[in-house]
Amino acid sequence: MARPPTPFAEPVYVTRPMLPPLDEYAAELKYVWESAWLTNAGQRHALLEQRIGEYLRTPYVSLFNNGTTALLVACRALHLRGEVITTPFTFPATPHALTWTNSTPVFCDVDPTTLTLDPAAIEAAITPRTSGILGVHVFGAPCDVRAIQRIAERRDLKVIYDAAHAFGTELDGQPIARFGDATMFSFHATKLFHTAEGGALAIRDETLKREIDLLKNFGIKNEVEVVMPGINGKMNELQAALGLVTLRHIDRERRARGEIAAVYRARLASLPGVSCFAAPDHVRPSLQYFIARVNAAGAGISRDALWARLRAFNVFARRYFYPLCSEHDCYRSLPSASAAHLPVAYAASREVLALPFFGTLGQDGAHRVCDIIEHICLEERARASAPQVL
Ligand SMILES: *Cc1c(COP(=O)(O)O)cnc(C)c1O
Repeated sequence: MARPPTPFAEPVYVTRPMLPPLDEYAAELKYVWESAWLTNAGQRHALLEQRIGEYLRTPYVSLFNNGTTALLVACRALHLRGEVITTPFTFPATPHALTWTNSTPVFCDVDPTTLTLDPAAIEAAITPRTSGILGVHVFGAPCDVRAIQRIAERRDLKVIYDAAHAFGTELDGQPIARFGDATMFSFHATKLFHTAEGGALAIRDETLKREIDLLKNFGIKNEVEVVMPGINGKMNELQAALGLVTLRHIDRERRARGEIAAVYRARLASLPGVSCFAAPDHVRPSLQYFIARVNAAGAGISRDALWARLRAFNVFARRYFYPLCSEHDCYRSLPSASAAHLPVAYAASREVLALPFFGTLGQDGAHRVCDIIEHICLEERARASAPQVL
């Protein structure tokens, strides 16, 4: 047996926030200090809103203090109520946004390759109480937006997309924010583009944009009129300033991640039972996560065993998304939450493993992670085939 690879000296996590040069942020903050305007639709906020609209090629953008508030406001603004069809294979903020706005999440199974909502399952889940569909472009792979659009038109449903993983995703050259009534982006520190905490809605309609801007600012129209019960969802100037600087470096980060993904793909292809999640050919990927799938029978090691053994090498991979949202205590009693109703999502949640994926990991770092995975898989297979000593 070959000598085991050297563990990383420091813990390596799945993401590491992209930190632009500090002096660039300081220069941007100077404007904020000079204006003495820290929040409430300031100059940095206005500029970032415009820049995000340009980057995402979408006409109407509304910035938020985080992605979850943005999702809550979208659910309110589009009057979702009753039942809303969504995926269990997501971060808990997705079904929580429905619960907080008094809708019941109805979990539907996902497509085995894209891991996004299966249109046939959506169709089968529609009842007279259904008011909308909340799809997730999970790992930046788009939902079947055209099929969902057809269903929504035929059944008169609203469509919201959680695009927290899909900043920069394009489908046949079309920006992802063009689909659905509203699309949420998260700018959390773990996301490729970030403002430490933050988020946005991309909206197709100008009237809806005006209502959303009111909703995120307590419903305040002017000094004497409050026109709806709004919330405080405003992005502040320090967040917006960070966003302006981060946005300048995003293409460089994307290139670095593209190179890392190429290393992972080439190296992991030779490991039996290990496959890599990839967006289809007509999709420009967001490069938010790099996801391997570990089939225990083929690989000779379960995903959980690999995940646990990687820790000994200081590699902290993550099991996104495990357990499914439908398995958590707050949702497991829903009729749509049973594992038997969600076999594809259930199987995926037992196989997916997010690997370290951030620009400063570099190709060398990716090779080291692959050396370690290869070593663990080989050792496990050797152990399994060794004669049993009685
Ligand atoms: C990060 C994330 C969110 C939440 O966004 P915040 O900005 O942290 O509130 C929602 N959905 C998905 C799929 C996410 O990954």
